[in-house]
Formats: sequence, structure tokens, C-alpha cells
Amino acid sequence: MKKKVKFAAAAVVFALLIILCHQGAEKLRRQIEAGRAVSGTGTAVRNTNLVVLDAGHGGIDAGKTGANGAEEKEINLKIAMIIKEILEEADVEVIMTRTDDQRLADTQVEDLKKRTEIMNEANAVLAVSIHQNSYHEESVHGGQVFYYTDSAEGKTAAEMIQNSLRTIDPENTKEAKANHTYYILKRTKVPVVIAECGFLSNYAEAEKLASEEYQREVAEAVAEGILQYIESTR
Ligand SMILES: [Zn+2]
Repeated sequence: MKKKVKFAAAAVVFALLIILCHQGAEKLRRQIEAGRAVSGTGTAVRNTNLVVLDAGHGGIDAGKTGANGAEEKEINLKIAMIIKEILEEADVEVIMTRTDDQRLADTQVEDLKKRTEIMNEANAVLAVSIHQNSYHEESVHGGQVFYYTDSAEGKTAAEMIQNSLRTIDPENTKEAKANHTYYILKRTKVPVVIAECGFLSNYAEAEKLASEEYQREVAEAVAEGILQYIESTR
């Protein structure tokens, strides 16, 4: 009888040991997986004080041509440079994908790839690509901001910039819009938006966008939205 009790006690202890070992191994496995998840998705801490500004097109790629003959690449760069100045005055660091009239590679695909690489490597809190729009109906006008469909952060930033852009054009009723096909939106790991500041196909808007005064107004509005987004992440 005594032997049986001892045997039962030993069996219970043995079973407990197995359970403890299993739990320990399970805990270790979870820790390893968590570690892998962090390094695998590259979710290193983002630099909350760094923004990448991307002036679309450049060099032989002029982008859209305005109803007034203005070239998109030039308007994009001018607006982006003013945004840079405003952000830096607010002590935000800025990385530009270009600061002169050149594209970043010989082909359009390579050029876009390079731009997304710069955005991803910077691990910025936000990347903003500046463009101008065009449409077959001349009457269409007003800035519109695009974000990647699956990005909640991109959506927040796009809405803030969109609201800010609407303040400079009371007739602009456009909303921030989701998109899942644009290369830069698809391939960039940090939150990214494309700000189409206005329609070059609309003569009056093309004239405004080509003027330094309106470029500054647009830049101030976009910068305001960016600063508001940065603030919301802190
Ligand atoms: Zn463009």
C-alpha cells in the first residue's frame, strides 16, 4: 500500500514537471516569435521628427503639362521646397528625394523604386509625395490627397492635409481618397500620402499653381496638415 502511494506521488510530480517544462518551452517559443515579428516587419521605432518630401517627376519626365503650358515637375519641386522650409522652421527634419530638376533613375519604374527606397530607409513618421492632377474635363479643380487603402496612419495624415488644403480653396469639396494601385503607396512601409495639389487641366488653377504666391499658400496648407499629423503621433 505504501509503495503504491509513493508511486502515485512520484507520478504526480513527474506530470507536474512535464507541464512546467512544456509551459517554459511555450513561453520561449512565443518570445522567439515575437522577436522575429519585430525584426521581420522592420517595425523599428519611427523617427517622429523626420518627414520625407518627394517632388514628383523631374528631368526628362515633366509629369503633366498644364493648360497654360506649365510643367508639373517644376511646380512640384517649388511647392516641396517651400514645405521643407516651413517644416524646418518648426524644427522638423526633412529629407528630399530631389532638390533639382532631375529624376532619380533612367526609367520611370527605377525612379519610383528609388523614391520608395529613400522613404523606407529614412523610417520617417510620414512621407509626402507632391504632384499635380489632370482630367479630361476642364472644369474639375481642387487639391486631393491619396493614401494607401490599408493604412490607417496614411488615412489620418491624408485627411488632415486634405482639410488643410480645403481652407485655401472654399470651392474644393474633395475628400481624401484611398488607393491601392499607385506604386509609391503600395511599396512604402512608412505612412505615405500623395498630395495632388490641383488640376493643371483647369486653366485658372494651372495659372494659380504656376504663381509663387499660390505655391506658398499650397505649401503652407500641406505643411500645416503634416505638422498636425506629427503632433497626433506624439
Ligand atoms: Zn505627377
